Amino acid sequence: MTTEAAQSLIQLEDRYGAHNYTPLNAVFTRGEGPYLFDLDGRRYLDFLSAYSAVNQGHNHPRITAALVEQANKLALTSRAFRNDRYPLLLERLCRLTGFDRALLMNTGAEAVETAIKAARKWAYEVKGVPPSQAEIIVAADGFHGRTTTIVGFSTDPAAHDGFGPFAPGFRVVPFGDLDAMAAAIGPNTAAILVEPVQGEAGVIIPPDDYLPGLRELADRHQVLLILDEIQSGLGRTGKLFAFEHADIRPDAVTIGKALSGGLYPVSAFLASDEVMAVFKPGTHGSTYGGNPLACAVAEAALDVLIDEGLIEAAASLAAHFRRRLEDLPRPPVTRIRSIGLWAGIDLAPDAPIAREYCRKLMGQGLLCKDTHVRTIRLAPPLVISKNQLDEGLDVLEQALND
Ligand code: PLP
Repeated sequence: MTTEAAQSLIQLEDRYGAHNYTPLNAVFTRGEGPYLFDLDGRRYLDFLSAYSAVNQGHNHPRITAALVEQANKLALTSRAFRNDRYPLLLERLCRLTGFDRALLMNTGAEAVETAIKAARKWAYEVKGVPPSQAEIIVAADGFHGRTTTIVGFSTDPAAHDGFGPFAPGFRVVPFGDLDAMAAAIGPNTAAILVEPVQGEAGVIIPPDDYLPGLRELADRHQVLLILDEIQSGLGRTGKLFAFEHADIRPDAVTIGKALSGGLYPVSAFLASDEVMAVFKPGTHGSTYGGNPLACAVAEAALDVLIDEGLIEAAASLAAHFRRRLEDLPRPPVTRIRSIGLWAGIDLAPDAPIAREYCRKLMGQGLLCKDTHVRTIRLAPPLVISKNQLDEGLDVLEQALND
């Protein structure tokens, strides 16, 4: 049940906003740790974490304080001038991740666009691909954002259809299929660009040999391996980066979302000296990219991730999370996939659709998100305690049993 105040806000949104989402009808006004609170003060356990942007929990006091403090000092200079926060975040990011250099943007899609531009320029300037012939190989069912270039290679009809004409230069192969990847690589291939775990597709985890196989193919053919860790990175899988599970290193990664703990849009493209060297003055940028407010927030968000041991927390809860998911009733559950504190739960074709379960769960104070009709996706904040995790999983188990 939604109150009158909530109803009137929902009506305003539906009247004046574009209908590009179908949100569930709770109207939130406050967040704290793993909880969101609606207009009536009702508390919900958030098992979506804004698609992993809120790994550090809602409104983490340390990140919020950094935001407020910096907002009171300096928010934006543009990169026409230098500021006293940008260099500190660059150093922090590179030391933490082991990449040589970082290029800061705002949204995840912009970080991916940066990766695409870097790969193409690298192909022309370093690999010697003929002008305008560079190709990037991507995976079917992947999700990398919503720009026209990115949706051009999306295999999701809702994301793709009706937005052409699209940029050429992309090949799509099935995710997890090394033979298909090997067959798609040609002399003009600049890069392989994939998520190490496909988030929006329903937390699809590739076979163990996939990432090592991609690394090997990339090395053999002088191709860049670029991993989109915008959702999988920064602790979600129980490691700083999902690629660490495969014991490989890509040539570059994109990160975003939890880079700001949900307080501000901050994203980054991280790469080697060789790759980043393709960007010369004037070749790429963003008015807000690397602004001092973003940098202060991102530094605090990284501090929280490390100082509070959130990556280790995700790793140590992972086995328990998995065990509890394995115990969910079958049917309606047909399959579960999980890594760290991230899971996709597939439902039987004759069961109610995932959205119906998500609506029901919301009524019981648990927020989850459906994906592709028959999958429920879980991504609780990494600050969640074992008891809170169990609380949510009890609600889920009960709802799936009813
Ligand atoms: N890449 C991945 C793997 C994502 O999951 C997302 C968002 O869900 C994006 C890119 C796009 O990020 P943004 O919505 O901030 O543009």
